[in-house]
Amino acid sequence: MPQEHSTANRITLAPMTLARGRHLVSIPGPSVIPDRVLSAMHRAMPNIYEGALVEMSKGILAEIPSLARTEGHGFIAITNGHGAWDMALSNTLSKGETVLVLESGHFAPGWGNQAAMMGLNVETLNARPRRAVDPAAVEERLRQDTEHMIKAILVVQVDTATSVWNDIAAIRKAIDAAGHPALYMVDCIASLACMPYEMDEWGVDVTVGGSQKGLMVPPGLGFTWANENAMAAHEKADLRTSYWDWTKRLSGDSHYWRYAGTPPISHLYALREALDMIAEEGMENIWARHAVFGGAVRAAIEAWRAPGGLECAMLEPAERSNSVTTVMTNDINPKHLRAVCEDEGGLTLGIGLGESEDKVFRIGHMGHLSPPMVLGTLATIEAALTAMGAPMGGSGIAAASARAAQAMKA
Ligand SMILES: *Cc1c(COP(=O)(O)O)cnc(C)c1O
Repeated sequence: MPQEHSTANRITLAPMTLARGRHLVSIPGPSVIPDRVLSAMHRAMPNIYEGALVEMSKGILAEIPSLARTEGHGFIAITNGHGAWDMALSNTLSKGETVLVLESGHFAPGWGNQAAMMGLNVETLNARPRRAVDPAAVEERLRQDTEHMIKAILVVQVDTATSVWNDIAAIRKAIDAAGHPALYMVDCIASLACMPYEMDEWGVDVTVGGSQKGLMVPPGLGFTWANENAMAAHEKADLRTSYWDWTKRLSGDSHYWRYAGTPPISHLYALREALDMIAEEGMENIWARHAVFGGAVRAAIEAWRAPGGLECAMLEPAERSNSVTTVMTNDINPKHLRAVCEDEGGLTLGIGLGESEDKVFRIGHMGHLSPPMVLGTLATIEAALTAMGAPMGGSGIAAASARAAQAMKA
């Protein structure tokens, strides 16, 4: 005989939602941290002056240049990407010098704002709307600078707000065509260990990176890489400060000064594990995997296309990043779509940055990802669009899985 529960009508049930299981955050950084990396951090603090930690750190520092594909120096600081920007500028430039910012979204101008606050003279060259930096425009501007007043050129490989992919090698060719000696500085925070990057081959003088995107490590480490040109400029730079100073971090017998103080111990354990994972997969395979996932995301967006519906923010297919995609939503309210995905789908999507908050959302597809994660993200978006009655062409899931299938061995 079924028992009557006298308490049944006093229990308030939570509203039904599908969003149980592991929540997925598909934003363009911080990216998903592998369990291996999380576990590696979970340990007691060791001796920081000698022994295993110091040996591990020396190994990491020796390996870091290869990440950016350079024979130059690599530096690790306890900071985020914004701090790494300061590290790059302060080590190479002097007060009152001019830098040329190549705008293609949110981040290069942000770097420029920090340069201005440090006492540099900042000039900005704007990209055409929804397009990458135009190398021809860079060459033209540099040709006008006959006195070589511009001392550094700042650009991002991938702008995480617009999801543009700038052609770093082509911009170097433009600088050379103009015969300009400015230092070439590239922010790879959103593309390192996601998309091809060849610091030495492409003639980049300073590279900037961060831990929490393709590198699969929690936020907290900032990286700079410097070639011989950058080290020569460093000798004369008067913006140098004790904490960021490359010379101080290279010199001295004590390992302690490699980090200008106590090392980021837990992050170093994480980074060691992440570097092992990167080596196990192989950098070229990582780039290829990101190309497939980026292609799957774009295939879905193309398939969904309908009047008033979603479209890629970047106009040219060749200028779309493999690590993040910014999606214009036209008649669809992106906040509504994100809320449905979040509350009903267990999926967090990226917000639009700056003025674009009401016009776009972003999908991060960088780092530790597999087909269930990427295709699941797209399927959840498709379900949310369907639930909302949003304008939608064909099935994005079919198109995206067809792209993934091309890379699957059967
Ligand atoms: C994320 C990001 C930054 C900023 O990094 P923070 O760690 O948030 O300071 C800078 N540039 C690019 C291209 C980025 O993607």
